Amino acid sequence: MRPERLIARLTLAQASCLLIGVEIEKSPFYEGKAKRLFRAANNLILQEFKNSATAFNGQKKAEIEGKAEVNATMSAMIFQYLEDAEIKTHLVDFIPPRSHLIQQLKMIPLEVVVRNYAAGSYLKRAISKEGEKIRPPALEFFYKDDSLGDPMMDEAEILAKQIADASDMAELKKQALKINDVLTQMFSQVGLQLVDFKLEFGKNSEGQIVLADEISPDTCRLWNQESGEKLDKDRFRFDLGNLMDGYQEIFSRLKTIIQWKERR
Ligand code: UDP
Repeated sequence: MRPERLIARLTLAQASCLLIGVEIEKSPFYEGKAKRLFRAANNLILQEFKNSATAFNGQKKAEIEGKAEVNATMSAMIFQYLEDAEIKTHLVDFIPPRSHLIQQLKMIPLEVVVRNYAAGSYLKRAISKEGEKIRPPALEFFYKDDSLGDPMMDEAEILAKQIADASDMAELKKQALKINDVLTQMFSQVGLQLVDFKLEFGKNSEGQIVLADEISPDTCRLWNQESGEKLDKDRFRFDLGNLMDGYQEIFSRLKTIIQWKERR
């Protein structure tokens, strides 16, 4: 088949990857609530962001035009910022408009949540008012299982079930707290308060723990430092205003301090 005919039948991301010499399978091997994953050559994966927004374990759903592009771009910028601070991430390249080429990892099935201020599900369990400072920051683990509703899990249970061992747990905590320090100062430079966020990690072929998934306003709570306005996914969860207005505000502020560096 002539190259231009072949490219016409591929998605934009697949065509971009082909142009940099990385072949991508046509059908995703995994489709989740927010992303589709395609296998690529050399043990790489193409992670494509979706426009779908979901909340309350998938009970509330919508398609939001432009969300995939903005989140994919912001998440790539944030991962680059973290790499510059010596944090290992799975990101190999940003494939505009809405995909990341990533390293294949053996994922650890935990969501690691860091909280600097009380919000969200923390309010149901803690004797705090929304916005109250949490010092030292709270670190929580949730076992990734949609059918169980991602239950919170303490370290003893994680060890007992062999989901991670003691040295993995020490490393997850160390990395999560370092990421918190870097992101807190990064967002504060642009007038944003990092309230809480969720991280996911995996292990590379050398057994090192590496940051995976995404960091975006879908996975962080970010408030305007001056007005307290919520700019993140809580706008969608609780109908607080147009979601993309909040995301675009965060994006335009981040662009003033991070320039995506081309990797090719
Ligand atoms: N979070 C996430 N994915 C999840 C659950 C939570 O990205 O499946 C993020 C959420 O956006 C927030 C932080 O983790 O920034 C803490 O969320 P919380 O436990 O308060 O749960 P929520 O009430 O948001 O479901």
